[in-house]
Amino acid sequence: MSQFENLRASSLYCQKCARAMPVRESLLLVLPDKEIYDYLCTGCSSSLGHREVSAADMVMARAATSSSTSGIPSSFGH
Ligand SMILES: [Zn+2]
Repeated sequence: MSQFENLRASSLYCQKCARAMPVRESLLLVLPDKEIYDYLCTGCSSSLGHREVSAADMVMARAATSSSTSGIPSSFGH
């Protein structure tokens, strides 16, 4: 039923298209502790599944992009 729950799927089987189709991620729901993304078929825009991103994952992603806020040299010119 949800065997791709923990995978980042790039293509899923679509029943309408009767074949595996590339999917795009669409933010479906934002909860206090996680975000839920919908996988939409790029052919017919049917929802083929969803992915949950926990708050811990988001914090780690943000920490990776903003890790240079400390260590600024403040003793210049003395
Ligand atoms: Zn489709």
